[in-house]
Amino acid sequence: MKTNRRAFLKSSAASATLLATNPFETMATTTSSNVRAGRMKFSFRPFTIEMKHVFTVAEMSRSTTPVVLTEVDYGGMVGYGEASMPPYLGESHETATRFLSQVDLSKYENPFQLETILADIDAIAAGNPAAKASVDIALHDLVGKLLNQPLSTIWGLDRSKAPLTSFTIGIDKPDVVRQKVKEAAAFKILKIKLGKDNDKEMIETVRSMTDVPLTADANQGWKDRAYALEMTHYLKEKGVKFIEQPMAKERFDDHAWLTERSPIPVLADEAFQRIGDLKKVSTCYSGIVVKLMKSTGLREAYKMLLLAKSLGMKTLIGCMTETSCAVSAASHLSPLVDWADLDGNLLIKNDVFDGMKVVDGKIVIPDRPGIGVVKIA
Ligand code: MG
Repeated sequence: MKTNRRAFLKSSAASATLLATNPFETMATTTSSNVRAGRMKFSFRPFTIEMKHVFTVAEMSRSTTPVVLTEVDYGGMVGYGEASMPPYLGESHETATRFLSQVDLSKYENPFQLETILADIDAIAAGNPAAKASVDIALHDLVGKLLNQPLSTIWGLDRSKAPLTSFTIGIDKPDVVRQKVKEAAAFKILKIKLGKDNDKEMIETVRSMTDVPLTADANQGWKDRAYALEMTHYLKEKGVKFIEQPMAKERFDDHAWLTERSPIPVLADEAFQRIGDLKKVSTCYSGIVVKLMKSTGLREAYKMLLLAKSLGMKTLIGCMTETSCAVSAASHLSPLVDWADLDGNLLIKNDVFDGMKVVDGKIVIPDRPGIGVVKIA
């Protein structure tokens, strides 16, 4: 980093001016190789992800996802971030633009005070978790690059312990499901979407093609707790490891009833958003689904995972349909979890980053500083 800093200082006329006029910057820059002259500049641009297949979950189908790509430039070092906003979650290009227009990182001396900066970002307005995540991810990427280490290394995690990732099979007719399972042959675990009127047909169709372990997600689609309980026993017999969000997120008592009786873990996804939800959720579910677009980014996701694990809960890290930017960021937390569902970048046809890979079904965390992505478009 020292050599880089010298090269940067030599090449930047702007920083020379700043150094001459700002004694604090002079001190900071000469006492730490990671602090740079100048202030952070935040920018963002809306982008639309195009998906390879029409994607169907219990409530709807779609073929595009609006995202916002963010950058934090600090003396020529750039951190990348992303907000992914599936329409049913309520954020959009418009809401993210409104929120991110209020983000001013130039008032902070440097990016290292993440706890302070991200608390300020969170306080700009309620909600907007994906927009907040796009700032959090870019700042973490930047800090990792300044420290010249992958985030997983900074967190003290063993990259070789990254888990398998599941690949998601959406709800469809048997011939389409068979085709999708064929295409997913490289994956060692599949996640099956349930919650319409063909749950058993979905499982039977997949099982007619493969013996790999399965996981299941009803996306709140089940209306009746007795049916949900019967299904958990059926799923256990079929080699399904857990069920995600069986019933409506508001039905805490029904989920507590089901969790007590189910032979497989019951995970909260839609019912679990921010870390403050964990206390309630821990009394009704066996585990949580953490996603950066719900948690407002990496910082809170990391805290959620540690807290849930300390309570003996199961953990899964998942994603939305995202470019390799946000998915790679999440991959750095994956050595902490029981299960990972980081296939969002594999479902899209216009990725703009290179990052996390899946090799033999297993997550390979990029061995590069920060979140470890390279811009490819
Ligand atoms: Mg889910």
